[in-house]
Amino acid sequence: MIARRSILLRLPKDKCDVDYIKRLMALTNLAYRDFEVLVPDLPKNIQYQLYGLKNYKNSLVFGTSPKRWFAETWIPLTTLRIYADGSKKGNTTAPVVLDFRNNIIKLHQVCRNVPGFVVELPMPEWVIERVNEGGDIKFAMIGLKGNEPYLALVAERAIEPYQPSGYRLVVDVNSWRYGIAWGLIHNGQLVSFKQEKPNLNVLLTLYYQAVKRGRKHGALMRIGLHRMTQGKRLRKQAEARMGKIYRVTRDKAYFLASKLVKKALKYRASLVIDDMTEESRRELLEEKLPPDVIKLLMSNLRRFIHQLETLAQWYGVPYEFRRLPSKVCPVCQSELTQLPGRTMACPNCGFKAPRDLIPMYWAIKIENARNQHS
Ligand SMILES: [Zn+2]
Repeated sequence: MIARRSILLRLPKDKCDVDYIKRLMALTNLAYRDFEVLVPDLPKNIQYQLYGLKNYKNSLVFGTSPKRWFAETWIPLTTLRIYADGSKKGNTTAPVVLDFRNNIIKLHQVCRNVPGFVVELPMPEWVIERVNEGGDIKFAMIGLKGNEPYLALVAERAIEPYQPSGYRLVVDVNSWRYGIAWGLIHNGQLVSFKQEKPNLNVLLTLYYQAVKRGRKHGALMRIGLHRMTQGKRLRKQAEARMGKIYRVTRDKAYFLASKLVKKALKYRASLVIDDMTEESRRELLEEKLPPDVIKLLMSNLRRFIHQLETLAQWYGVPYEFRRLPSKVCPVCQSELTQLPGRTMACPNCGFKAPRDLIPMYWAIKIENARNQHS
């Protein structure tokens, strides 16, 4: 199995011609849609990139196919790798050169349409770590995100999932409101269980502060004073708070995904992911959270699941997605009723447990049933 991971690097804007990159993106988009456009003033090796690489289009981007609308498609590029011992891999005319002897990345003529124009970047730690893990950076992409130029590097590695030891790590993705819950299961027992949640109070405080400043800015705008010092400051403060909410939840998502994959590796556990994002969204709606906050929490929830899957693939952790009920009795399968304090009770057999433990009981039940069959 080929596992892939990617990283985004911001390119120095002063060394990049944004219009040139835009044009390359538009051409890439046309190439993906099977139009062949040969532009006389474009370097040949860049043009070959577009047509030679389009077969990889589904594998190269971050979990999705390239966006289809005009000019939003990133340009795929091949790479040349020069290792510390001087050995080389890849195409010698590749526009992206990863030089591990000098720890630099060189971009040839993809940032500006000037013959011999080279942009140099320091080699990120991330690349060295992936290469040390047995990965190879065969492809890169260049494109614009919010009109800022970026380079994406794609590491790939051939790996087979390990034989699980009998431990199971169950990850229940409730919602960021109640966080995620994970349980380690061994021999039909819940060995450990933990809930990890973002500090929603902090997020909501920042959110309402941003909204308040946004409103004040709006009021100034109506009387035409928003370009004055106070207006500018309010706008900056509002943006800074929204940016912080975004970063805090994103970092938490990445941190948790990495923590859980490390845990799975430690026990050689198989990973069971209960991915109920639709249900989570409904729960958040019932909580009457502001729509912006729901959107943010949901996008980071999806980011968490995607990162968990990406890391599991990369490190060869066997995993499966599995629906684990939280409203059905794991003993007699009757519908559970919710008591105050997120406790669930079974009106039929009297089973009672905290809501977030129910999926864990289901995971144990499923494991027991499997063991009986085998
Ligand atoms: Zn029951």
